[in-house]
Amino acid sequence: MQTIAHWLDGKSFAGTSAATAPVTNPATGVVTGEVALANVADVRAVVDAAAAAFPAWRDASLAKRTQVLFRFRELLNERKEELAAIITAEHGKVLADALGEVTRGLEVVEFACGIPHLLKGGYTENASTKVDIFSIRQPLGPVAIISPFNFPAMVPMWFFPIAIAAGNTVVVKPSEKDPSASLWTAELWQEAGLPDGVFNVVQGDKVAVDELLENPAIKAVSFVGSTPIARYVYENGTAHGKRVQALGGAKNHMVVLPDADLDLAADAAVNAGFGSAGERCMAISALVAVGEVADDLVARITQRAETIRTGDGTRGTDMGPLVTKSHRDKVASYIDAGENAGATVVLDGRRVRADGEADGFWLGPTVLDHVTPEMSVYTDEIFGPVLSVVRVETYDEALALINANPYGNGTAIFTNDGGAARRFHNEVEVGMVGINVPIPVPMAYYSFGGWKNSLFGDSHAHGIDGVHFFTRTKAVTTRWLDPSHGGLNLGFPQNH
Ligand code: NAD
Repeated sequence: MQTIAHWLDGKSFAGTSAATAPVTNPATGVVTGEVALANVADVRAVVDAAAAAFPAWRDASLAKRTQVLFRFRELLNERKEELAAIITAEHGKVLADALGEVTRGLEVVEFACGIPHLLKGGYTENASTKVDIFSIRQPLGPVAIISPFNFPAMVPMWFFPIAIAAGNTVVVKPSEKDPSASLWTAELWQEAGLPDGVFNVVQGDKVAVDELLENPAIKAVSFVGSTPIARYVYENGTAHGKRVQALGGAKNHMVVLPDADLDLAADAAVNAGFGSAGERCMAISALVAVGEVADDLVARITQRAETIRTGDGTRGTDMGPLVTKSHRDKVASYIDAGENAGATVVLDGRRVRADGEADGFWLGPTVLDHVTPEMSVYTDEIFGPVLSVVRVETYDEALALINANPYGNGTAIFTNDGGAARRFHNEVEVGMVGINVPIPVPMAYYSFGGWKNSLFGDSHAHGIDGVHFFTRTKAVTTRWLDPSHGGLNLGFPQNH
């Protein structure tokens, strides 16, 4: 069994903590490794390495930094199948999906390759007589990136390419459920020529997170995970003087209006509901059928969902297992609760026959119809392959449902009516909106983030928000050899 350690200053670091957590292959149920859980001293050692590497990396030229980024981009592109295999082995998502995750992360690396342009400031000549002003963006220092289990490669990559390109040094704290992707990435950075200490990994749980939030050397924290922890990280991190962006959970609605193309909508609902076994923060979990479309739509969705092959992600199946046994059981218990509360189980994933080992954490696609907003299957983020159909009569009812929801990550509307679609994107209180697009994850040059309980902080991830998050601006006012020096003047500086 492998031991999964930390990464500090360009090498593996065992740490001094004896605590570990098991890492399991969800498709077999077999424990494949033991991940180290850092104690405070271990975290401090990793943070110290990031702090020591900062001055030189901050002063490395943009030419040097972008050369490393381009090289990293090339290596990642060449070897992305390796990373996808690591993701599938620890997370369970099927290989094609794992590859998709890496590709979306790669987009952020490509965006960060343009950092010289993104860091450009402004310059004003003669703001006052012979006085010029310019602005610059400078890195913050060592920053922490705390990641959830569901995208072990992509979510850290939403942040670290930009953080590193901007001249910061990084400590990644992966999920203890799938910790290996970050270590593989650390080795790739080294191969790309990144100086030791710029990219570090600390494995761990709450102990590690708390030290990252409190350690004064860490200047900013990018967190992604469930809403209660995101709120905690935001409150604790900002209380310790840090810049924090904390992306939380989600409950994403897909509205289908009566004029929608129902085949398109049914395909989209199935792809977005069951892709990655519903373990995506942008998964569709509530399908809001407006008016008379409901029966026909549910039939088309069910017909498609029945064809999904659930099984081991290395065997060419469509949908893999859930990440742990306890998570699988929890999601199944929501199906029980929905059924007991009066929802109709149209397709029952609890009875799935999976193409995989008996001890895998299997749960098949589940469609629940006649779900009402009081049911726990609707109110809670389930994070599994369960699509709940809520029937409403009007567009206004659908909109009110979404806007009353405490989450606001993603949403979609399916319609052929441009006016209705425009009204929806104008009125809906959600951070990312799809029009006939079920998972509207923006490209890297836009920013990713939700509203309400789906994000705490002011900045979304990547895009210009990411550049701003990982830099701080400085405005410099200059006067050179000015013969018009006017003598003493204690008044507040004014332009003349
Ligand atoms: P999680 O909140 O359990 O864990 C996230 C991170 O927090 C992990 O690194 C974990 O080790 C750490 N952590 C766990 N408990 C902690 C505690 N008590 N104190 C401090 N740190 C703690 O989330 P998860 O189960 O790994 O991931 C799934 C969740 O992430 C879902 O809610 C999903 O919606 C959310 N998510 C959101 C986005 C987004 O962009 N908004 C993206 C991906 C995932």
